[in-house]
Amino acid sequence: MSEVYFVDSRARVIDPAEWFQPQLSLVSKLRDLIRKSGVLDFIEKEDVVAIKTHFGDRGTTKTLRSVYIRTIVEEIKNRGGRPFVTETTGLGLTRDRCTALGRIEIAEENGYTKQTMKAPIVIADGILGFDFVDVPVDGKNLKVIHVAKAFEWVDKVVCATHFKLHMQGGIGGSIKNIGVGCVAKPSKFDIHSPNPPEINENCTECGKCVEICPVNAIENFRINHSKCLKCMGCREVCEDDAISIGPWLSGADICERIVECAKGVFELVGKENFAFFNFLIDITPHCDCHPYSDNPIAPDVGVFASRDIVSADAACLDVLKRLEANRDALTGEQKFWEWTAPEVQISYAEELGLGERGYEIYDISD
Ligand code: SF4
Ligand code: SF4
Repeated sequence: MSEVYFVDSRARVIDPAEWFQPQLSLVSKLRDLIRKSGVLDFIEKEDVVAIKTHFGDRGTTKTLRSVYIRTIVEEIKNRGGRPFVTETTGLGLTRDRCTALGRIEIAEENGYTKQTMKAPIVIADGILGFDFVDVPVDGKNLKVIHVAKAFEWVDKVVCATHFKLHMQGGIGGSIKNIGVGCVAKPSKFDIHSPNPPEINENCTECGKCVEICPVNAIENFRINHSKCLKCMGCREVCEDDAISIGPWLSGADICERIVECAKGVFELVGKENFAFFNFLIDITPHCDCHPYSDNPIAPDVGVFASRDIVSADAACLDVLKRLEANRDALTGEQKFWEWTAPEVQISYAEELGLGERGYEIYDISD
């Protein structure tokens, strides 16, 4: 049984006649959660600590607020750690979210800066998302994970996750934050598809893909797969629908691959060097990579903290399932549950030794 600590996001009024009650803020409660749970006490003086979160895209409005990240930063500094806040680039080359410079620009527009978080931003997979370390894993689907290179140099990782639903994976929790968010472009592609991109019969030989390919992998209008880094830049610039990929996975297939990538990150950093915060608030029906945020499907619940990635996500998934059982509690339509397989993330992560499904909740709200 792993320990999962919890604070309720509701402001339980202590004295209704008193308006100034800062202790009711979720920021104060997060600080209490950190201090009472001891979940960050594994951080030692001079440790370099990566805080992995998600900055969203232009138009995403329900990512984690920077004040929560700042609270975690302050607590890491109180323990003598040296924190930075990190993200990786998205698949593709032309959209801003797909390069380090664009990623930082969007982060700043969305309110994540050195000033708001008290820690610098480092994009973990480099300028174009091709800085990675190859880590072997014994997955059913993937044997090598291309982990973002910055994770080679960190002592500890604190995962600050906005827990929500995910269009293909069912849930976007800590496993997804590590498995998708800490790997470079080639592994992001491998999560989504088993087959590399190919040029098909629609090709007009215009040359745009040849021009954009950063590794000169397109020779005589054929992709040389020994060079291709599966970035999808060629597909973005092709106006003739001449780059085929597929199938684009969902459900159990994508969940297994996300877990295998998370295993690669654990292998590189060391499983004992992680802590997890799942914020079960603003529970949107899709991931923060969408350039918009739909209405939440359920009321805010609170924050879960654990040193066990599987238990942290299992606790939140179990809350969502209880809400689903009582559909009156839902504030919106539950959109993706039917064709996704969120439980696979939990069960396969346990099978690969990432953590335990069994957990005990310690509610420190009062
Ligand atoms: S961009 Fe498309 S049409 Fe142009 S050469 Fe490449 S695959 Fe062919
Ligand atoms: S051929 Fe491969 S590396 Fe080159 S742009 Fe296309 S996906 Fe990227």
